[in-house]
Amino acid sequence: MMNYKDKKYHVVTYGCQMNVHESEKITGILQSLGMTSIDKPELADVVVFNTCCIREGAEDRAFSNISALKKYKAKNPEMVIVVCGCMPQQKQGKYDFKTKLPFVDIVIGTHNINMLGSYLQQISENRSRIFEILEQPVDSCEITNVVRDDKINAYVNIIYGCNKFCTYCIVPYVRGRERSRAYEDIEAEVKELVNKGYRYITLLGQNVNSYGKDLNNGMDFATLLSKLSQIEGEFKLKFMTSHPIDFNKNVIKVMKQQPKVAKCLHLPVQSGNDEILFKMNRHYTIKHYYSLIKTTKRQVKNVSLSTDIIVGFPNESEQAFEDTIKLLKKVKFDQVFAFMYSKRTGTPACTFPDQIEESVKNRRLNKLLREQKFINKHLLNYCVGKTYNCLIIVKNGVTMGLTDGGREIYLPNDSGVMENHFANVKVEGIRNHKLSGVIK
Ligand code: SF4
Repeated sequence: MMNYKDKKYHVVTYGCQMNVHESEKITGILQSLGMTSIDKPELADVVVFNTCCIREGAEDRAFSNISALKKYKAKNPEMVIVVCGCMPQQKQGKYDFKTKLPFVDIVIGTHNINMLGSYLQQISENRSRIFEILEQPVDSCEITNVVRDDKINAYVNIIYGCNKFCTYCIVPYVRGRERSRAYEDIEAEVKELVNKGYRYITLLGQNVNSYGKDLNNGMDFATLLSKLSQIEGEFKLKFMTSHPIDFNKNVIKVMKQQPKVAKCLHLPVQSGNDEILFKMNRHYTIKHYYSLIKTTKRQVKNVSLSTDIIVGFPNESEQAFEDTIKLLKKVKFDQVFAFMYSKRTGTPACTFPDQIEESVKNRRLNKLLREQKFINKHLLNYCVGKTYNCLIIVKNGVTMGLTDGGREIYLPNDSGVMENHFANVKVEGIRNHKLSGVIK
């Protein structure tokens, strides 16, 4: 039987913030067994791969990295290899861990990560492999001993799962239906993090705007945000991800009125063309999206906007793609996360006719990224003369203000006395493609 005390672990994370936070929970479980972290997976006693299946590339990378451990496991048969997260949870996944990777010891899905400690105990007593992919989450998803990587920002789950079923997305199949956390649990976690000194708390969910719909107690996302911003202390709340069909005027009002709600919004649009949005099952039109952006810009001063875009969705014509470029030029997002459409087995879009060739997707993605680069240059000029409430940080000996949207504004070095506090910073100019300013 392996005693994990003083043994070494290594966690590898693929995918989104949701997975990053789950890895923080996994780290908490491993440390509570007495283990310590090691940089090199080949020297670890326990290696955990927290996988993502949102795009084929991430899956292929994970599979090849897991496969690479085979030779180390042959040298050290005591090594325990765990694969968890979205990849094993897929019913029609590309990779079969049971037969293709016989040296992997524990394979679990998204619903039982909180059981990892007991699976490790089990395997230390009896070396038989564990395969446990559950259809539903076990009792509660609460894991309390989270070990957070970041010293400034802390993630807090507010809702798990998704009910939207966008035709390209595998998430509802691997994360299940929406389940909101109780307000009291969220509030207690946020208070604890504020007391520990975290300056940003990011509320996480596949669709945070759906918060409360399943609780039947009158609670919704705008109310949650408003209540959490009453907590005492120096901090700001961020949230992600929002869905344009549920993001609404009430949330915009809270963003405007509450100084503790960060002035940034990540609102994935996915395409600038109505026909494609319909085929994606996104339930909104571009007109609706523009109206949300217009209201947000009007109400929330100096708001920073970001979005997700998929290029090369089945049947996307050149004209439909140009509509997306038109959207970028019109909205002028501060940040765009653009991806080529990736076929996901088990989703409706996978079987749609008129799939777009990889070379066309590639060309469109490159064009879109070039356009966004140009817009970004323009946006720097737009920032000059404006004042932003920033967190003052010192990075590699350089003092800067970090806007809510993550832009860095270089400051005179004597501003460092304000380190780790919020302050208003006026942008005075641009030096070497970077903003520079002073504390006001
Ligand atoms: S809203 Fe759509 S894209 Fe987002 S997780 Fe749900 S199904 Fe996937």
